[in-house]
Amino acid sequence: MIWDDPREYVRGVLSGDRRMLAKTITLVESALPAHQQLARAIIDQLLPHAGRAVRLGITGVPGVGKSTFIESLGSLLVEDGRQVAVLAVDPSSQRSGGSIMADKTRMEKLSTRERAFIRPSPSGGTLGGVARKTRETMIVCEAAGYDVMIVETVGVGQSETTVASMVDFFLVLMLAGAGDEIQGIKKGVLELADAIAVNKADGDNLEKAERARQQYEMALHYLRPSSPSWIPPVLKCSSLEENMTGIRRLWQTVLDHRERLDASGELAAKRKAQALEWMWSLIMEGLKDRFYGHPKVKRKLPQVINEVKNGRIGPTAAAAELLFLLDKD
Ligand code: GDP
Repeated sequence: MIWDDPREYVRGVLSGDRRMLAKTITLVESALPAHQQLARAIIDQLLPHAGRAVRLGITGVPGVGKSTFIESLGSLLVEDGRQVAVLAVDPSSQRSGGSIMADKTRMEKLSTRERAFIRPSPSGGTLGGVARKTRETMIVCEAAGYDVMIVETVGVGQSETTVASMVDFFLVLMLAGAGDEIQGIKKGVLELADAIAVNKADGDNLEKAERARQQYEMALHYLRPSSPSWIPPVLKCSSLEENMTGIRRLWQTVLDHRERLDASGELAAKRKAQALEWMWSLIMEGLKDRFYGHPKVKRKLPQVINEVKNGRIGPTAAAAELLFLLDKD
C-alpha cells in the first residue's frame, strides 16, 4: 500500500526505519506522476535533515574491482561505527537491455550488515533521469542517518561527470596495465579525480602497480588541480591485503580532503554549486519531458523527422517548428 501523506514517510525515514526507507526510494524511482509528486514533497521535508554525510564517488572500468573495494571499505567503515549507503549510477541498463553492474551478485557480505544499505542503479531512462533518482535517494539515505554515501559508476558516456557533480570526493580506480599507462585514460576523468588509486596492488602485481602509480602521478602533475588546497594523490590499494592498509589510507585521504576543503570554505561552495547544478539538470529533464510528452509534438514529430530525412525541410526550420508547438498553449 502506498499512503499519500508525505509526513508518514518523513517520520519513518527520520526514525531510520529501513522499510520506510525502501518504500520512499521506490516512490522516488517510480515513473507515475502521483508518486513523483509525493516523492518531491517528501524530499523537500527531508532536505534539512540531509547534507552531513561524507559523499564519495567511485569510478573505474568493469573488472577494476569496484564492488570488491566497496565491500572492503564499507565493512571497515561499518566496523568503525559508520552507517554506509551504496548507490549506483548505471544508465547502460537502458541501452544494452542489461546492466553492467547489477547482473552479478555484488557486495554479498556488506549487504547483510545492519548498518549498510545497498541500492542498485535505478533502471531505465536517460542519464539525467537516473541521476535525479540517485540524488534524491542520497538525500533520503542521509536523512535516515547514513553518514557515508558511496556512489559508484562505470564510465559510460557522461556518467563520471554526473557522479562527480553529486559527491564531495571523486575516486578513480585504475589497473596496472602492461604498456604505457597514460594512453588508456580519458583526460577528462583525470581532471575529475580527487584521488587515483591503482587497485589490485598485490602479489605479482605489486611492482607493476607501483610503476603505474608513478606514471599516473606524472600525468596528474601536468594537470592544474581543481582546488587550490588539494593536490590529488595517487595511491595503491588492494582488497586482498590482510590489514587493508591501502584502503585505510585511502579513507584517511578522503577525510583529510574533507577537512582541508571545509576549512577553506570550498566544501560549502562546492555543495552550493552542486545544488544549482541539480536544479539545472531538473529543469533540462523537465523541459525534455514536456517536449516529448506534448500532444502536438507527439503527433507531429514522426512526420517532421521524415521530412528532415528526405531533405524536404531543413533541421533549423524543423526544430523551430517543433519548439513553436510548445508556445501555442
Ligand atoms: P567491478 O566490475 O569493478 O565491480 O570489479 P569486481 O569487484 O567485480 O572485481 C573483478 C575481479 O577482480 C573479481 O574476480 C575480483 O575477485 C578481482 N579483484 C577485486 N579486487 C581485487 C584486488 O584487490 N586484488 C586482486 N588480485 N583481485 C581483485
